[in-house]
Amino acid sequence: MIVFDLKCSKGHTFEDWFGSTQEYESMKEMGELECPQCGDSDVTKGLMAPAVAVSSPSDAPSCSADPGGTPGCGMGGCGGGMCGFE
Ligand SMILES: [Zn+2]
Repeated sequence: MIVFDLKCSKGHTFEDWFGSTQEYESMKEMGELECPQCGDSDVTKGLMAPAVAVSSPSDAPSCSADPGGTPGCGMGGCGGGMCGFE
């Protein structure tokens, strides 16, 4: 599964999940993609976001899973110092 940032011709942005880029292409081809805000089917693909949750700092899954010292933690990867890494 991959998530795409999509944007309609009116500038609304939203995300949608697809099984593959090909699935996205065929849905677009069939006009099955539409903006949830205005129903516009002229939707274009923006940046492809990898399937990682970086939008929610409270999750910090990689850090809390390895409190002993995840390499990224020292670099502020955890934000709130959840790793106990000084
Ligand atoms: Zn729209």
